[in-house]
Amino acid sequence: MKVHVEELTPEEIELCTRRHELKMLLREQSKATNGGRIACTYCRCDMTNSQMHLSHIVPPSQGGQTDAENVVLSCGQCCDSKFGRTLDGWLQKLDTMRAEVCRLLNQQPRKQEQATAEAAA
Ligand SMILES: [Zn+2]
Repeated sequence: MKVHVEELTPEEIELCTRRHELKMLLREQSKATNGGRIACTYCRCDMTNSQMHLSHIVPPSQGGQTDAENVVLSCGQCCDSKFGRTLDGWLQKLDTMRAEVCRLLNQQPRKQEQATAEAAA
């Protein structure tokens, strides 16, 4: 990983500048539409400047560009969770996780019922 500005190519410097400008633009849009709050586009949690991430709607790995039409502000958790996925792909992952949580929670009461029934017998 390059850490010194001198090591960056002009294209990398331009991308860093564009990302920073997009973050500032989206931050101001978020504040204007959320009563002064900077909110994650996906989960709506409050964020500070240092917690803001740019999330690509269409990931760069699938041809998505780093421009105002393809990026939103998101929190770190949403950004990490969505990473490399399209919105549809991410929602499918979340549906799978939700189904698994429901399956696990539905098992819990059954176990307790069994334990109660065994204790009463
Ligand atoms: Zn979020």
